Amino acid sequence: MSERTLAIIKPDAVKKHAIGDIIARYEKASLKPVAIRMMQFSKSTVEGFYAVHKARPFFDSLCTFMVSGPVVVLVLQGDNAIKKNRELMGATDPAKAEAGTIRKAHGTNIEFNAVHGSDSPEAATFEISYFFPQMELVG
Ligand code: ADP
Ligand code: MG
Repeated sequence: MSERTLAIIKPDAVKKHAIGDIIARYEKASLKPVAIRMMQFSKSTVEGFYAVHKARPFFDSLCTFMVSGPVVVLVLQGDNAIKKNRELMGATDPAKAEAGTIRKAHGTNIEFNAVHGSDSPEAATFEISYFFPQMELVG
């Protein structure tokens, strides 16, 4: 079933000049970009986006990381896009990520892990609408 997911190329990966490699991986996996936006998050933008993690001990650190430089926010569309992107990303901790995954290739540690991907249909719906009005999705 074709569905949509939200991906973010995080500040660490942008600083490493990995935008092109990461988008190429999405396309090779038949995850088609239907919206792309490069932006610098404000603190309130990232706190709202990661509101589900508010109680986690790493919340403040994560927000500081996510405002540390520009990010690329994308909507990806394809069959089983949510699960497929999570597989392409690899485990949260790059040290535990499988060979061939984005986090294995570009992640540094459990916090600086190169990419975000929605983890459920509910999260994808919230996250896509957080950054893109429906009319900006070209797929
Ligand atoms: P994922 O991004 O794999 O869905 P989570 O939703 O659990 O992982 O966490 C959101 C983000 O918070 C992670 O991608 C990572 O950047 C950061 N993070 C997760 N766990 C930790 C941790 N134990 N210490 C520091 N940062 C963390
Ligand atoms: Mg998550």
